[in-house]
Amino acid sequence: MEVIIGDTDATKVSKRWKSHYFNDGVWRNTAFGSSEDTYKNLLACNDLRHEIDAAIGNKSWTHLLCDGCNEYVDRAVSISDGDNSTYLCENCLKTALAMIRGKT
Ligand SMILES: [Zn+2]
Repeated sequence: MEVIIGDTDATKVSKRWKSHYFNDGVWRNTAFGSSEDTYKNLLACNDLRHEIDAAIGNKSWTHLLCDGCNEYVDRAVSISDGDNSTYLCENCLKTALAMIRGKT
C-alpha cells in the first residue's frame, strides 16, 4: 500500500498531456476539442489544481478516482496486487475500518 497524491505540477501535467495526445508530429483531438489548444492553456497554468482542471475541463489529470465512492479526491491509498491497483480515499478507508471493527 502507498499514498498517491494527485498532480498539482502544471509542467508535469502538460508533459503528460503532450505525451498522450501528440504522436508522430500530430495532435490527436480529444472528444471535446483541440488537444493542442488545451496544451497551450496548460502551459499558462500555475501549479494549482483548479487552474489545471479548468484548462482540461475535468479533474481526471490532477485527482485520483476513489474506487470506493467513485469521487475524485486529492489523495488516496493505492492497494495493488502487482497488476491492478485499487484507490481508496480517506472517507472510504474510515468506513472500511468501522466495518471491520463491526461498528456499522
Ligand atoms: Zn472514497
